[in-house]
Amino acid sequence: MEPTHRTLVLSQGFEPVRIVPWQRAITLLFLGKVELVEEYDRDIKATSIVIKIPAVVRLLGAFRRHKKPVKFSRINIYGRDNYSCQYCGVKKRLFELTYDHVLPRTQGGKTTWTNIVSCCSDCNRKKGGRTPEQAGMKLLKAPIQPAATPVLVLALNRESVPDAWRDYLYWTGELDAD
Ligand SMILES: [Zn+2]
Repeated sequence: MEPTHRTLVLSQGFEPVRIVPWQRAITLLFLGKVELVEEYDRDIKATSIVIKIPAVVRLLGAFRRHKKPVKFSRINIYGRDNYSCQYCGVKKRLFELTYDHVLPRTQGGKTTWTNIVSCCSDCNRKKGGRTPEQAGMKLLKAPIQPAATPVLVLALNRESVPDAWRDYLYWTGELDAD
């Protein structure tokens, strides 16, 4: 489907939430569920009326957010940490990485996003069962729980983005590179 045959749907708060075929956007407009924000410069000729294809519409009702939480797994920890040891900062290959409990389990540390970091085996050995302070080592950055991935950003990487949408999208690195 050509990009200009799709309509970007915004939430009440003007966040991009969905992409629909233009026909669906017309239906939503007629049902009073959305308001028109932007049109494409293109007419559609029905039997007796001429309408422009909606480029961007905004939901008038509340939208329930569907976001995918990032799974807690070894590979996703490495991904969050850019495959780098969080103590020496060296980027490693997958099989050279291990993970470290920042606060050791023996001291009550939990196996969670905020207490697990990627680590090379040298730093892991050096740190042993100690906290970074006790081992005289410095964490490069505090481990965080990654934000849920917005579904729309993932979908947008696979299609070209019409100009009419640009003011309404979040520009991520991923999207820019597309
Ligand atoms: Zn290291």
